[in-house]
Amino acid sequence: MKKELNHVQFLKELYGLTVSEIKRIDGYESTNYKISTSEGGKYLLKEYYNISRQEVELIQQENYVLNKLFIQHPRLYSRPKPSLSKEIFLSVSQSYHWRLLSYIEGTFLGETSHSNILLSSFGKFLANLDKELLFLESIPHQLRQTPWDLQHCLDSESLQIHISNPRKRKLTKYFFQQYRINIQSRLKSLRKQLIHSDANDWNVLSENDEVTGMIDFGDMCYSHLINELAIALPYVMFGKKNPTDVAKTVVGAYHQVLPLEIQELDVLYELIAMRLCVSVCNSAYHQKQNPDNEYISVSENDAWELLEKLISVNPLDFKNEMRQACGFDKERKASNDILLNRRRKLMSSSMSVSYEKPIQMTGAAFQYMYDAEGDSFLDAYNNIPLVGHCHPKVVEAGMSQMARLNTNTRYLYEILNRYSSRLLDKFPRSLNKIFHVNSGSAASDLAVRLALTRKKGKIVVLEQGYHGNTRMGVDISSYKFDGKGGTGQHPNIITLPMPDVFRIAESIPELIAQAKSILEEEENISAFIAEPIMGCGGQIILPEGYLKEVYDVVRSKGGICIADEVQIGFGRVGTHFWGFEQHDVIPDVVILGKPIGNGHPMGAVVCTEDVCSSFENGMEFFSSFGGNPVSCAIGEAVLDVIEEEQLQENALQVGNYIMDELRCMMRESSYIGDVRGSGLFWGMEMVMDDGITPNTLLAQKIKNDLRENHILISTDGPFDNVIKSKPPLCFTKDNADRLLEEIKKSLKRNEELQNNS
Ligand code: PMP
Repeated sequence: MKKELNHVQFLKELYGLTVSEIKRIDGYESTNYKISTSEGGKYLLKEYYNISRQEVELIQQENYVLNKLFIQHPRLYSRPKPSLSKEIFLSVSQSYHWRLLSYIEGTFLGETSHSNILLSSFGKFLANLDKELLFLESIPHQLRQTPWDLQHCLDSESLQIHISNPRKRKLTKYFFQQYRINIQSRLKSLRKQLIHSDANDWNVLSENDEVTGMIDFGDMCYSHLINELAIALPYVMFGKKNPTDVAKTVVGAYHQVLPLEIQELDVLYELIAMRLCVSVCNSAYHQKQNPDNEYISVSENDAWELLEKLISVNPLDFKNEMRQACGFDKERKASNDILLNRRRKLMSSSMSVSYEKPIQMTGAAFQYMYDAEGDSFLDAYNNIPLVGHCHPKVVEAGMSQMARLNTNTRYLYEILNRYSSRLLDKFPRSLNKIFHVNSGSAASDLAVRLALTRKKGKIVVLEQGYHGNTRMGVDISSYKFDGKGGTGQHPNIITLPMPDVFRIAESIPELIAQAKSILEEEENISAFIAEPIMGCGGQIILPEGYLKEVYDVVRSKGGICIADEVQIGFGRVGTHFWGFEQHDVIPDVVILGKPIGNGHPMGAVVCTEDVCSSFENGMEFFSSFGGNPVSCAIGEAVLDVIEEEQLQENALQVGNYIMDELRCMMRESSYIGDVRGSGLFWGMEMVMDDGITPNTLLAQKIKNDLRENHILISTDGPFDNVIKSKPPLCFTKDNADRLLEEIKKSLKRNEELQNNS
């Protein structure tokens, strides 16, 4: 109260103004007051305490610019009001300064709805302002280096540590990394000039769908021109269903007044993301310093939401939309036909391509994949990028280790021991030795070699099982030797019927008895290999007790038990880290692959001391790449991320949610025979309306419908009628809702077709 009395008194003494109302407005760094006078004037009073000489200079430069702009456009910009002693930056006392600016009327963009007319007006306003600022370039350029000047966005990177939620932190890490790798070097060729650099929605005024003014030139800087838009755009994109359209309107209007260059448009997506990252990093930092200042986090939730949304936007699409808004040609990738023809010339047709209409992928982030048409696909299919496509922690781990040392296990290096020990810590104590290889196939091949070196004999496998592409891999994979082009079962293999409780007539005890009786007849068993949930078999969960009893018989015959965790390991099943743990068994050997390196080619064989020592017969085991330091660094990062982002828990929650919803759908539809799985490894078996006959066509239709709606999913099983999903474990409930919605729509459409046929 006392202070306000002082304000009133000083304003009279120093400016000759009679205050009728004074209202405090909190700002990011300073405190401002809205002043109304009896003479009818309105002003903004800005207070400065203990500011440095350099800051005084900056404020003087700002005053200079404002004066110039005000002379040209008196209604659009505020004017610094001189005191009675003609000072526009007034020393009230030695450490206390004032600046009085004329107050511009209008409604902030932040408090009005954004019609296309208003958005265009915003674009044009910004462009006109930038044209004016270009002419003011004679003022010194070495304005202060603030974190808000987007060319210095990397200065905020270190503040990421203050973001406490790791799932949020991965977003900023991802965009900073993309910026450093893909954008930073391209900025050299972009225009620079004086820009406002803070056209956020609380600095822009409007009236009747028209931008009428702009305030707060305190962040003005000499920077890349495109940063003006990169900073302004997020605020009008917040909360919009289609943020790209909003950006397109503003950018198109800007371009009409001040033409943009193609290379400026091409980096806008990433620069918008950088503005958001700078903003959330700084608010995380300031929140810790100053937990009571609400202003700091004013747009934080919106910024996080937009960052999430940007991930789901294909950057190529954004780029092309901006190009189109400014009349430039779209960036085109090679046509799918050309790529496919060339591939067919160069490679074997035994390598398949998914979908009748193949997809050309150009990028990916987390649970999204981007294609060459500009579409963004929700990835409900790929289990290899376990922690998400291009996860920044995994990328960083690989890049930095690759730049330091990459060698092989014939040398000593710490990370090999550290990673091996961390991975083995995830297993029961008896599984305490590890071999590093480069693929699931190399792992299954080695696992069988371990078994055969220990004891010659037959290898027991499951019908429809798949374990690898080496000669041995195919020999132990009924999916291959019994499938198209297969040459049947090798004499050294015993195949147990697939324990598919949905399809077979036998009860579980009968099924187990059947498997046991086959094994009882064999004298010479070396090993039994099985996945605890069969992927290629069509997401078949081995029935309760099955593995335990089969393991017992195999062991009683002197054989060992191998669990193939290549598809389901590393927390995917939700309830446990490994699938075998659900069956209350401890294998003698476990093979790992796919998700272990999040896409980096890795594999491993984990085994008991006994199995390991029986392999030590004098022959060296060496894998040129298995266990190299880069792979170890990547593998370690994958383990970190699973823990930090609680991905196993997420798999359980989201997976259960999906399967519950699918079971509701099953009650309504006679075409869904079964829904099964665990965590984010589930399948839905499509049948005819008799409830059992496989409905391959319907499964294919749903798969293709989802593809048309930009969701990746697959089908599998002996009849290819099981819709199968095993997405990156960062798949969210919102992603699940979108997936379920599309499945529901496709099912309804196709059911109608089936009923009418
Ligand atoms: N085991 C299982 C269960 C698999 O699904 C696969 C690959 N589909 C493999 C082993 C072989 O792994 P890779 O393709 O890495 O050689």
